[in-house]
Amino acid sequence: MHNQDIFDVTIIGGGPAGMYAAFYAGMREMKVKLIEGKDQLGGFLHTYSDKTIWDVGGLPPMKCAKLIDWLVQQAGTFEPNLVLGQSVDALTRQDDGVIGLHTLTGEVHYTRSVIVAIGRGIAEVQKLELDSAHHYERSNLHYTVQNLNYFAGKKVLISGGGNSAVDWALELADLADRVSVVHRQDAFRAMEHNVKQMKSRVKVFTPFKIDRLYGNGERINQVAISNLETGEDIDLEVDEIIISHGYSSQASNLARCGLVMEEGMIAMNQLGETNVPGIFTAGDCAIREGKVRLIAGAFNDAIVAVNSAKTYIEPTAAGMAYVSSHNELFKEKNRDLEKSDSLNGKMK
Ligand SMILES: Cc1cc2nc3c(=O)[nH]c(=O)nc-3n(C[C@H](O)[C@H](O)[C@H](O)COP(=O)(O)OP(=O)(O)OC[C@H]3O[C@@H](n4cnc5c(N)ncnc54)[C@H](O)[C@@H]3O)c2cc1C
Repeated sequence: MHNQDIFDVTIIGGGPAGMYAAFYAGMREMKVKLIEGKDQLGGFLHTYSDKTIWDVGGLPPMKCAKLIDWLVQQAGTFEPNLVLGQSVDALTRQDDGVIGLHTLTGEVHYTRSVIVAIGRGIAEVQKLELDSAHHYERSNLHYTVQNLNYFAGKKVLISGGGNSAVDWALELADLADRVSVVHRQDAFRAMEHNVKQMKSRVKVFTPFKIDRLYGNGERINQVAISNLETGEDIDLEVDEIIISHGYSSQASNLARCGLVMEEGMIAMNQLGETNVPGIFTAGDCAIREGKVRLIAGAFNDAIVAVNSAKTYIEPTAAGMAYVSSHNELFKEKNRDLEKSDSLNGKMK
């Protein structure tokens, strides 16, 4: 028995697929809940929020952080019920067909249909494995770069060997007072041209790792790095440290709730249906022939999954929503927008 509200559709995951599904399900006049495991919407886009995105149809190149803002705004258009910080761990079905979504925090959410849009799972940064590191996360030890200018004129140490580490080293090469890069291996996992550029412009230490942090409890001012082959230690003065060791994805138990998986992803058909009635899927967690693993692909999957969820709970409903340009749902909203600057090409 459940005495909570029952939603028409509950979307699990607040990345591009889940956010767009929340918008589109609103267009379909469904009662929508979106549950996101982290404390913010945006999904994997947060891992490259400082990068410029070019390939979303109709949008000018923009920082990914901006795209997150716009997606969040759009997802809120029809005021879905938003639950943050709850990771869905299991699904159960009741005798009346209602599906219960059980979260790791012990809550249960009830719904007539589900769209699983969990992407690459819940991404967590790989932290620097030194006990003292977390003391400095609020001062000068960073796991991401939000504002390059913050590092201007400073002595910056970057640890990592992937594209992000190399990109940040290049972007800071002329801006910072000094950039040093440490990486555990001689080979970098980044574009060859960029690695070559980086090696000619900043000081690169391989195969080195950060061994010790010296600070006053508030800020790190010196770092000992050690050579993994020879054991040689070098002390470097630092103002800021950027750790770019990648992300780990926490796999979800949802995969074990009777969903057929292929290559570690949820198998879906052309209608976004999984093998379990009432459970649909969209975005990077889903697989079918021709699946496009891009933001644009996530949007398309979201539309298909919402339409299927709509006709699942209401078999006589139309197969898709009426186009937005002629949709009465937007009449009032359009009037408000026309009074503001946001229409007629004025993007902020
Ligand atoms: C480095 C990099 C650069 C990229 N650049 C581009 C680009 O330029 N253009 C482009 O189009 N695409 C790009 N992509 C691909 C794009 O990021 C993905 O296609 C997109 O993020 C997929 O969105 P999604 O919503 O399916 O999944 P995600 O973005 O992974 O979002 C899934 C969400 O689900 C949440 N979640 C997971 N499990 C649970 C659970 N059990 N309960 C509750 N919530 C859960 C996660 O916390 C997350 O918020 C790039 C990808 C990478 C890795």
